[in-house]
Amino acid sequence: MRALITGGAGFLGSHLCDRLLAEGLEVICMDNLLTGSTDNIAHLAGQRRFQFIHYDVTNYIFVEGSLDYVLHFASPASPIDYLQLPIQTLKVGALGTHKVLGLAMAKKACFLLASTSEVYGDPLAHPQAEDYWGNVNPIGPRGVYDEAKRFAEALTMAYHRYHGVDTRIARIFNTYGPRMRLKDGRVVPNFILQALQGEDLTVYGDGSQTRSFCYVDDLVEGIIKLLFSKETEPVNLGNPDEFSIVDFAREVLELTGSKSRILHQPLPVDDPRVRQPDIAKARNILNWNPQVGLREGLKKTIPYFKEKIAI
Ligand code: UDP
Repeated sequence: MRALITGGAGFLGSHLCDRLLAEGLEVICMDNLLTGSTDNIAHLAGQRRFQFIHYDVTNYIFVEGSLDYVLHFASPASPIDYLQLPIQTLKVGALGTHKVLGLAMAKKACFLLASTSEVYGDPLAHPQAEDYWGNVNPIGPRGVYDEAKRFAEALTMAYHRYHGVDTRIARIFNTYGPRMRLKDGRVVPNFILQALQGEDLTVYGDGSQTRSFCYVDDLVEGIIKLLFSKETEPVNLGNPDEFSIVDFAREVLELTGSKSRILHQPLPVDDPRVRQPDIAKARNILNWNPQVGLREGLKKTIPYFKEKIAI
């Protein structure tokens, strides 16, 4: 069995490379290294079943030989990244998804789209179930990511319905763990880094907005179960344990033993007020349930950041 993972040198992509290799597959990792890094896959170099191709998937993709699975994980994924890379974000979600779906169709491979909770925008339904259509501002700063992913979902369903491509859509909620970029701007790396370096923790707004954080190993397990299932409609994957951002900051301070203080900064435009996945569907269809609580997950993540800071 042979799999291609776009964005394979990114945070989630690289963990998926590891997992698919462990499952016995041959893995081709494709990445333009815009936000990914070869550091994340350096340990795989030289492995017989692993290959890295430095490539931008918004262009026509040629891959020699057969493919059984195509996982499309390429995209900037941090709000800071997609604000700085708005055109690339739109292109990889739209043009990139088109190219990768075309490749999957040509190879008769099963295609999995890494979609996102951002398709729900600033949600008016709570928690968010798959049948909620979302509340997205198409022209706001986050629109470049949200709309690209919504388009990607629509295109995936079109290839499934019109061309009969075997497809999966994972709606991924906030996920964290080792290999997140130190300065990717998301709340988990920001707070851990700030706490470890004795800097103030930058809580945006009053910190009452909520997020639900999933440890990377749980997420990868969910992706694999979805990939090997028959479910072609979108499935939420995330941990439903919901925290306010200010409580999350306190948790990071406690676990790092940091003396840093909390500093309130302006709330970014269109920042979702609440976010919590309804994972009933994943529980029922995939028999999947996240196992790692926030404290346990942070205890596995903080040492990674300590090590990276020391380098
Ligand atoms: N946030 C924060 N301080 C930071 C970074 C993020 O308070 O230094 C907040 C942000 O406003 C949002 C939440 O934390 O409400 C999660 O932000 P993140 O960038 O991780 O991703 P999002 O869930 O918004 O896509």
